[in-house]
Amino acid sequence: MSSSSPLNRNNTDYADIWVRVREKLRSEYGEATFNSWLKNIELGGVTNGHVTMSLPTKFLRDWVINNYANRIRQIWCQLSSDIQSIDIHVKEIPATKVEEAASNFQPAPNANTHVTAAEIVKAGNDPQSQLKSQLDPRFTFENFVVGKSNELAHAAARRVADAKDNIPFNPLYIYGGVGLGKTHLMHAIGHAISQSSPDKKVLYLSAEKFMFRFISALRYKDTMNFKEQFRSVDVLMIDDVQFISGKESTQEEFFHTFNALVDQNHQIIISGDRSPTDLEGMEERMRSRLGWGLVADIHPTDYELRLGILQSKVEQAGISIDPKILEFLAHRITSNVRELEGALNRVLAYSDLVGRAVTLESTQEVLRDLLRANDRRTTIEEIQKRVAEHFNIRMSDMHSARRARAVARPRQVAMYLAKQLTSRSLPEIGRKFGGRDHTTVMHAVRKIDELREGDSSLAEDIDLLRRMLEN
Ligand code: ADP
Ligand code: MG
Repeated sequence: MSSSSPLNRNNTDYADIWVRVREKLRSEYGEATFNSWLKNIELGGVTNGHVTMSLPTKFLRDWVINNYANRIRQIWCQLSSDIQSIDIHVKEIPATKVEEAASNFQPAPNANTHVTAAEIVKAGNDPQSQLKSQLDPRFTFENFVVGKSNELAHAAARRVADAKDNIPFNPLYIYGGVGLGKTHLMHAIGHAISQSSPDKKVLYLSAEKFMFRFISALRYKDTMNFKEQFRSVDVLMIDDVQFISGKESTQEEFFHTFNALVDQNHQIIISGDRSPTDLEGMEERMRSRLGWGLVADIHPTDYELRLGILQSKVEQAGISIDPKILEFLAHRITSNVRELEGALNRVLAYSDLVGRAVTLESTQEVLRDLLRANDRRTTIEEIQKRVAEHFNIRMSDMHSARRARAVARPRQVAMYLAKQLTSRSLPEIGRKFGGRDHTTVMHAVRKIDELREGDSSLAEDIDLLRRMLEN
C-alpha cells in the first residue's frame, strides 16, 4: 500500500496515526489524566515531519508541554518514522466555545484528584475563585470496611476526625499502594469533621491540584491570595503528595504552608504512595516534616477483607448474589480494592443486561481479561521462592527428586498453593516442579488439604504464605 510509505503520507494517514497516538496516551496515562489534559489537543497538520497540534488556552498548552510533550513526541515518532518534531500552540477560540468544550468533560470517578479542563477555564477567568473540596459522598467511614491491613490507618483517621481541638498527631501521613483506600479515608475524615464541626474549614485536594493552584497564582501574580486561602483552613488534606516530588518551587510553597498550619495548631493530613523517607525527589526537610506526626501504612488486602468489602457493597446495593461468586472474586481479584469493585460492577452490569442471575461461569466469562491479569501477578516461581524461604529449604529442592520429609512437604505446600493461586493446570504445575507427573501434583493437593484439617500450625503457615502471595 503506497499511501502508508512515510514518503508520501497524506493528512488522512496522519489523522489515523493521531487517533492511535491518542489511544496510546489514553492507555498510558489513564482516563482521568487523559480527559483532564490531553483530550482537547487537536491535530493541526503535519508538514515535512513536523507535527502541529493545538490547545484552546495558553495555560493548558504550557502544562501539556511541561508534562506530556516528550511522551507525545516519542509516540508520534514510534508510530510514524518520518516524524522529527512536534509543536503545540494555542488556538484562540471564543471563550464561550471553551466553556462549552470544558463542560463536555466527563469527570473521572475520583474527579477531585485531577485538575479538570473546566477548572482551568474557571481559574483562568477568575483567579480569585475560592478553594472548595469536593468530597465523594460514597467515601464515608460507614462505607469503609476495616481489616488487618488497614486498621491502623482507619483508627488514626477516626482519631483525627473525632478530635475536637486537641490535635492527636500532626500531620497524619497515610501511605500505601493504589486503590487501597487512602482517598476514601481522607474524604471520610472530611465528611466527619464537616458534620461534627460545620464551622471548621476543611480543605481536601490532591497535590496535583495544589500545584496547579500555585502555578496559576504565580501566573496571575496572586500569590498573596493563594497563601491566605491555604493558611486560613482548619484542616488541610493533601492527597498523593508524591506528585510534587521533583517539583521544587511547589514543594517550597507547600513546606511554608505546612509549617504555617502546624504553627497554628491546625490539622494536616497527607497521603502518599510510599513512606515519607522513601519519597525520592522530595527535599530532606520536607520528608522529615512529613514523618513528624503519625505515619500509618495501608497494606495490600487479604482475602477476608476483600470478601468483607464485596459483601458490604452488595448489601449497600441491595442485591442478592450467590456467596460463592463473592468468594471467587475475593480469591481471584487480589490486586486492589478499586479493581475488585470494578470486577463486581462488571459482573452485576452483565447480569442486568442479559437479565439472568450471576453464575460462576458468567463471572469467569465477563472477567476473563481481569482474571488473567491478576493471575499473572502470582507466578509459580514466586510461590516456590516464598515457600522455600519460609521453610528454609533451597529453591533447587522445589525441582529436585529428594524425598526427605523436610523438603518433600514444603514442595507439596508449594504445589498446593500453585493450584490454589494460579490458573495453571495440574500438568503445567508438575512441569514447573522438576517435570513431575500431574498425578503427583494432585496427590500433593489432596494430602495438604487433608493435613490442614488436623495440623493447625501447617494451616497457619499456609494462610500466611497465601496472604503474602496474594498481595
Ligand atoms: P487510593 O486512594 O488508595 O488509591 P481509593 O481510596 O480511591 O484508593 O479506593 C479505591 C476504591 O476502593 C474506592 O472506591 C474505595 O471506596 C474502595 N475502597 C478501598 N478500601 C476500601 C475499604 N476498606 N472499604 C470499602 N471500600 C474501599
Ligand atoms: Mg487516591
